Amino acid sequence: AIKAKQNGVESNIPELKLNGFVGFDSLPYQFQFNVLCVGETGMGKTTLIESLFNMKVDFEPCNNELRTVELRTKICEVSEGGVRVKLRIVETAGYGDQLDKDKSAKIIVDYINEQFEAYLKEELKVRRHLAYYDDTRIHVALYFISPTGHGLKALDIVTMKELSKRVNVIPVIAKSDTACKDELVRFKQKIMSEIKSHNIDVYQFPVDDETVRKDNAGLNSLLPFAVVGSTDFVTKEDGRLVRARRYPWGIVEVENEEHCDFVKLREAMLRINEDSLRERTHNILYERYRRERLREMKMKDGDAGFKMVEAFQLRQKEFMEERQKKEEQYNKEFLARVAKKESELKHREEALNVRIRGINESYEGEAKKIEDSINALLDEKAKLENARNSGKKQRK
Ligand code: GDP
Repeated sequence: AIKAKQNGVESNIPELKLNGFVGFDSLPYQFQFNVLCVGETGMGKTTLIESLFNMKVDFEPCNNELRTVELRTKICEVSEGGVRVKLRIVETAGYGDQLDKDKSAKIIVDYINEQFEAYLKEELKVRRHLAYYDDTRIHVALYFISPTGHGLKALDIVTMKELSKRVNVIPVIAKSDTACKDELVRFKQKIMSEIKSHNIDVYQFPVDDETVRKDNAGLNSLLPFAVVGSTDFVTKEDGRLVRARRYPWGIVEVENEEHCDFVKLREAMLRINEDSLRERTHNILYERYRRERLREMKMKDGDAGFKMVEAFQLRQKEFMEERQKKEEQYNKEFLARVAKKESELKHREEALNVRIRGINESYEGEAKKIEDSINALLDEKAKLENARNSGKKQRK
């Protein structure tokens, strides 16, 4: 288990083993993936997440008396084929339950913006740690549409429109096993035409890359995905255990493409386009937010204005001052060290000179002594020679 902050509280992140195939193993590195589920209570959000990631997610049960929309987060680490994924799942609780429905969209939009703001703050730090940063920006929002067949509600239109400016929105028809096939086809068309007529910019799987063009074009034509989720497993006649919903007349299999678009959604979101979703989040959606914020801060005009620019400049100033102080301190220490070494050398030189002088003096004394004794010997020799010469004369 690893430590992480969840709703501002430090908590253990459970390391989960996926029970079956998800699709992460096609990705070569460790990454973070943040999914937001937006939909009314009881629409099957938690069940779909459990089905998508093949694991148990236990959000606190939501009571319908929530006065406001709340966002609940679950973080877990999953691994598949040696690839480790830090998964953050955010679900709306109480969405659509209030009388004052307009606020619901705002709360979700605020949440998305807060995650952008947190990233921007980190980016503006003088010493930023983006490599280790716990990136909470939402990479994809699954929007759950009720399978009534009546089309989009006003709340769906308002929320999807606002969300799609800030996050990759993938619309899904919830509990699609409750509608019959022909109905679903008509319903899908109706929803897509409403989405277009309201200029809602839902996520389009990219078709500019040759390798995924065909797959993604097919996926785009399936939007909104008609999904089914289940926490139950059924053993089929051939012995296979499948995730399914049981009915008196038979079973609806979650992972059967004849029964629903679940597999297509999983492929679209987690296998083929996981990178594109993250890239669009960073390069387009976050960039848009960043530009707006910086413009607000009047960065564009070069006119330092709002708090964040000031804070940024202040931090930069502090950093420069600190650096200058350190440099000065270093220079001072360096000069002191040089002066100390110089005085040590001077001392040593003086001591050496004293010794040389001493040696010279004693040498001179010694030399004088030798000279004196040579002179004394020469005197004695001269005396002896004189004495010998005068002796010779007397004998003659
Ligand atoms: P949430 O409140 O949106 O998270 O919804 P839940 O996942 O808790 O599901 C609410 C209820 O709907 C549960 O009784 C589920 O068994 C049921 N449910 C979930 N997904 C489906 C589905 O795809 N089809 C049908 N018919 N029921 C579903």
